[in-house]
Formats: sequence, structure tokens, C-alpha cells
Amino acid sequence: MKKVGIPRALLYYKFSEMWTTFFKELGTEAVVSPKTTKQIKFDSVKNAPDEDCYSTKLYFGHVLALKDQVDYLFIPRFGSDHHTYVGCPKFIGLAEVLRSQIPDLPEIIMPHYNKAKSGHRKIAFFRKAYKVGLKFTKNPIKIIRAIIKAVKAQKNHYKTILIDEETLHKWERSETILNEPPRYVENERQLKIALVGHSYVLNDPYSALGIRTSLQEHGVDFITSEQMPRNLIDKQMDKLDYDLYFLYEREILGAIMHFMESKTVDGIIHLMIFSCGPDSIAGEVAARLSKRDPIVPLLQLVFDELTAEAGMKTRIEAFIDMLRRSEDEQTLLLTTKVHI
Ligand code: SF4
Repeated sequence: MKKVGIPRALLYYKFSEMWTTFFKELGTEAVVSPKTTKQIKFDSVKNAPDEDCYSTKLYFGHVLALKDQVDYLFIPRFGSDHHTYVGCPKFIGLAEVLRSQIPDLPEIIMPHYNKAKSGHRKIAFFRKAYKVGLKFTKNPIKIIRAIIKAVKAQKNHYKTILIDEETLHKWERSETILNEPPRYVENERQLKIALVGHSYVLNDPYSALGIRTSLQEHGVDFITSEQMPRNLIDKQMDKLDYDLYFLYEREILGAIMHFMESKTVDGIIHLMIFSCGPDSIAGEVAARLSKRDPIVPLLQLVFDELTAEAGMKTRIEAFIDMLRRSEDEQTLLLTTKVHI
């Protein structure tokens, strides 16, 4: 059985269900790299170009962890799955960069897909997926079935992540919990926080230095930007004087704007990646909006490969402490951006 390697980094956190289902249905073994570890990070930093963002660097480590175990690597050149807005340009060039930097890689399957580009709609998606399928089987029924099942798996995945407006309002009224249940902290008020950032940071505990667990242990109930109802994100984006074309930054900024307006959380934590172009645009807009309306404090944490867990924990503790004190002491709350 052929083995197809899928690096557990970047877009894996958006499309894992679709990709693994597709390759399994084609009769191959989809091998996903292990969760990020210290060794993966070490290999990443050693082999990736210095100027890359931390998330892209980590991708290198995941590729290296897979390269000797698989027959192929699946690294799509992904432009966008939205008809107008685009992903990060790094996603498009990554496969070629890896091929040039690491000479002994197995064959890379790298279909190019960009729905925002005219012509790349459903039929183009089908054609490209079909072409990938032909590498493993000549049976058209098997390929078509694999595509249908993969698309269905992705839709189900979205259904489990995305919440609707009613669920959001229930969470805002503390009638439901959406993530890890917060620990009870004696004599302390339970806090609500919006945790926003890229899915590959929010869902990779090593990359985000265990922030989800830290929040949970401090008695914080949180919601993430990737869970937010899409209609609310679009509604917030319509309020800008310009169109923000980066799809995933729309998710991040839209979530921040929603909570600044609704004031239904005690604070917002924005996880940013050092040297990320799209993040710096969304981050700057968020910081300006927050300075104009500072009721809901915004903490922007900038991560890179040098960030230490202890530094992050100290920042989180100080932020939570400030939010708790603010209720009793009318503390002046400010937007804070820290490179940890
Ligand atoms: S969006 Fe930012 S963090 Fe993500 S890959 Fe692009 S530059 Fe890196």
C-alpha cells in the first residue's frame, strides 16, 4: 500500500478531514506527522529559511519527520477556498520552496487550487482531485467516491467547529460551554475570553505553548475565532471602509470586532505570529479599534521560535489578574501588544 505523508501543520488544521478521507478512500495509507515536539521545532528552525514566519518554519520540521516514511508528500499549492478572499501567499509557494531546500524528498503531490481565481470553481476542484486520484487507481468510480466522501467529511468537520448565532448567544449568557471546561477557582469569578488566531496556532498546543490549558486552569471559559458564526464575521467586516482580502484574517479581525462591540467577554487574547504579513495588518486594525473603544481589553501576544512557555504563562497570568481586579478596583485597562 502506498503511503502519502500529510504534514500536521498550517492548512492541515483546516482540511485534515478532507485530505485523510480522500487518501484512505483511494486505498492509500494517509500518514500524518506526529504532534509538534521539541525535536520537530529544532529541525524546523535549522532547515527553514530565517525570514519565514514561525508557522511556516514548523511545516519544515513536519515534512522532515515524514520524508523517510512515505512514498509521497501531499502539499497543495492552496490559494483560497473562497470566491473572493485569499489565503496566505506562503501556502502557494511552500511545496516548491521545500523541494529546493530539501533535495531528497519523496515526490510531492502539489495541486494548485484557488477558488478566488476565475475558473477554479467546483469543476476545477473536481478535475484537480481526480488527477491526484489517478496516481493511485485507474478506477473512476473509486476516485469519484473518494472525492464525494472527502467533501462530505470536510462539511461535517465544519459543522462540528462552527457555531450558529443562537449557540454563541447561549455561550455569552453562560448557558453552554464550547471548549475545555474551566476549572473552578475558589473565590474567583469565572472569566470569559475570546481567543483569536490562526487555526494552526490555536490547535497546536506546542506552537501556542499550551495556552488553552493555561486558560482552563485559571478558570477561564473561552471561545475561539474559528468557532465564530460566519455571518457575524461578514457583518463586522462590512463595517470597515475597505475590504480585507485575507480570508483567515477576516475570521480573526471579525471575531475581535464582534466582542469589542458586544462586550460579552471580559477580554480578548490575539495570538500573532512574528513576521506574519496578514497578521500584522489585522493586528494593527484591531489595536486601533481597541484604543478607540477600550472597554474590552485586548492582549496581543506575538510568538516566534524563541518564545518560552514561562514568558507566555506570566503574560496570561498578569492579564487574567488585571481582568479580575478591574471589576473591583476600576483599573484602567489598556490594549497591550507584547513580543514574548
Ligand atoms: S498567514 Fe502569517 S502565520 Fe500564516 S503562513 Fe502566512 S505569514 Fe505565516
